[in-house]
Amino acid sequence: MNIQNNLNIIKQSLPEQVTLVAVSKTKPVSDLMEAYNAGQRIFGENKIQEMAEKHEQMPKDITWHMIGHVQRNKVKYMAPFVSLIHGVESFKLLKEINKQAIKHDRVIDCLLQIKIAEEDSKFGMSTQEASDILQSEDFSTLKNINITGVMGMATFTDNQLQIKKEFKLLKTVFEELKLLNSKNCNLKTISMGMSGDYKLAIDCGSTMVRIGSSIFGARNYN
Ligand SMILES: *Cc1c(COP(=O)(O)O)cnc(C)c1O
Repeated sequence: MNIQNNLNIIKQSLPEQVTLVAVSKTKPVSDLMEAYNAGQRIFGENKIQEMAEKHEQMPKDITWHMIGHVQRNKVKYMAPFVSLIHGVESFKLLKEINKQAIKHDRVIDCLLQIKIAEEDSKFGMSTQEASDILQSEDFSTLKNINITGVMGMATFTDNQLQIKKEFKLLKTVFEELKLLNSKNCNLKTISMGMSGDYKLAIDCGSTMVRIGSSIFGARNYN
């Protein structure tokens, strides 16, 4: 695996307005450092404790994104340093993030995860739920939350048309939510696209891609 090489090839293929999150879950710090030395500064992890450990060990100019499912009781471990939480899918979770953000005198950027896939296994809220939250009185009191966009994961399938349909749906949801002009919101990010589908995602309006295996190689889950 030549991480620097993989990274350079991907970066060259991304339009300027698209942000690359290097998804380093399960990979050792030595692999992350290779990406770091090649200039990468944004890393994505899907387990809070793993991210916190890597944050401890690595240079402090890295920005850490939580891309996985978030358990409320673990928010406290990332609240001091996390720079973007992609997988926010309930108001309860927003309240906890706000509470922990206050303790550290921070405003934490979050994306609302929208369920765009047909698969039941995928997390996320409906468009209606997202819109209800952004318009609610309760939400407007969460001063230490800044919703900066939406995140979605397409169905795991080879059917390109299906994936395209789901990505286009997320883009539409984003445009609809923007029209609400809610408080604590500054909608600019559409986080969609992984190793297998990021080119399609960009064609459908993605502004942030989360790429793991095409940079670091296949993951080995023991
Ligand atoms: C693991 C993961 C990715 C990266 O997947 P690859 O196929 O390895 O690029 C992207 N997004 C989320 C939410 C993930 O959990």
